[in-house]
Amino acid sequence: MTHDLAQIAYILATTLFVFSLYWMNSPKTARRSVFAGVTAMLLAVVATWIQPEIVNHGWILVAIIAGFVVGVPLSRVPLTAVPQRTALSHAFGGLAAGLVGTAKYYHWAGEGAEHLTGFRMAAIVAEILLGFLTFTGSLMAAGKLQELKWIPQRPVTYPLQNVSNIGMLALAVAFGVFLVIDPVGPWSSFLFPAIIVMALSFGVLLIIPIGGADMPTVISILNAYAGLSAVAMGFVLDNKLLITAGALDGSSGLILSIIMCKAMNRSFTNVLFGAFGTVQTPRADASQKSYKEETIEGAAQVLEQAESVVIIPGYGMAVAQAQHRIRELYDLLRKRNISVKFAIHPVAGRMPGHMNVLLAEADIPYDDLVEMDEINPDMPQCDVALVIGANDVVNPAARYDKGTPIYGMPIIDADKAKTVYAIKRSKNPGFAGIDNELYFADRTFMLFGDAKSVVGELVKQLSGNTAAH
Ligand code: NAP
Repeated sequence: MTHDLAQIAYILATTLFVFSLYWMNSPKTARRSVFAGVTAMLLAVVATWIQPEIVNHGWILVAIIAGFVVGVPLSRVPLTAVPQRTALSHAFGGLAAGLVGTAKYYHWAGEGAEHLTGFRMAAIVAEILLGFLTFTGSLMAAGKLQELKWIPQRPVTYPLQNVSNIGMLALAVAFGVFLVIDPVGPWSSFLFPAIIVMALSFGVLLIIPIGGADMPTVISILNAYAGLSAVAMGFVLDNKLLITAGALDGSSGLILSIIMCKAMNRSFTNVLFGAFGTVQTPRADASQKSYKEETIEGAAQVLEQAESVVIIPGYGMAVAQAQHRIRELYDLLRKRNISVKFAIHPVAGRMPGHMNVLLAEADIPYDDLVEMDEINPDMPQCDVALVIGANDVVNPAARYDKGTPIYGMPIIDADKAKTVYAIKRSKNPGFAGIDNELYFADRTFMLFGDAKSVVGELVKQLSGNTAAH
């Protein structure tokens, strides 16, 4: 009876997981998506817990309390730290899969070789390889994104790096094949721990040549590995829900990585082996070019007279937490019947959907958030492009300068607008480490300062002007 109940709960949970992913497609349904995912996970845990095989409830309670102790503070990290928080979640998922595989191997090996069929052994090997490499790889990725001092931020490369990494992975797979053939043979007490050590080392070696700019994409790839290790765990434990949920996790991680690579015009192999993200020193001619600055009063006047304004947010908006001030600016412009749209680049900020989440937090209507491909044809008719803390995603060099790391990345055509105002704190480059010629263009005017305070000043000015009218 409880077994049948569990199977029904698993089918329900799988359906909810599928819908949860589907509802993530739009900010309008994103909250429902989170609720569906949480409900599915709760169903999965309860349905497993009520199984008659589960006899030691004390340990499960301890694990749940430990989960709360770690999970609640993790849920409170600022939005700018979500990529590293996500990496930590993957690390825990990978570790869990690796430990379950290890426990199952030694448990069955103790009970006799007949329990370790070829299929089970192959599933265990896949589980521990993917699980443990996801664990250390995700920890390294989180450390790099958190800019921990003892983890080098720059890509670390050395001769024959890819050959030695792939060699180690091949050796671990070969050891796994030996174990599938002879799971409890005389060499097994060496081969099994050796695979674990190699998987843990491979996770570290896989991440050190990758630069910070590619880290979110890599986290998404590690998400796919964690999903695949859960699939293997499902085969080991004969649990269908783990297989389907792991497959959803694995495939969605892979699809997201591909979308991010496309948005940055990078190939998968290039992300994994390219050592992209090295901080470059600005080119010598940068300091000789001059920026034109604008006053708050001047910018407010031009904004007031515009018919259409496109706001292009970037990572700086997230750093400054300027979204609420931007909402006030939006309201003031809308009151004057000015069309205001937000141009959303797929990789603006530091994680997919970064800008959408922040703007949704400030209750900007979803219909005014426009994807890059949709807004670009309208940019030549736009009176004012207001770039707020964005840099690489509006850099025209991406169109033609083969020497830059962003070459080929599609950009928002801010440079085609009639007037461009750019808000940033200094003359420093963006994440790719290159200068942005948009800022030197004839029609561009800089409003130097922190995004929150500059937009706040604009709001004050426009409110004052309203009062004066
Ligand atoms: P960006 O190129 O990193 O530029 C952000 C700009 O914001 C900087 O030039 C910085 O200039 C400014 N800024 C920082 N703090 C500020 C503050 N408090 N007030 C005002 N301005 C501030 O960001 P982006 O244009 O959003 O481009 C995203 C980059 O990340 C791309 O290279 C993309 O490929 C990469 N990336 C994104 C993702 C993703 O999923 N979103 C994933 C992987 C890689 P100042 O220091 O002068 O203020």
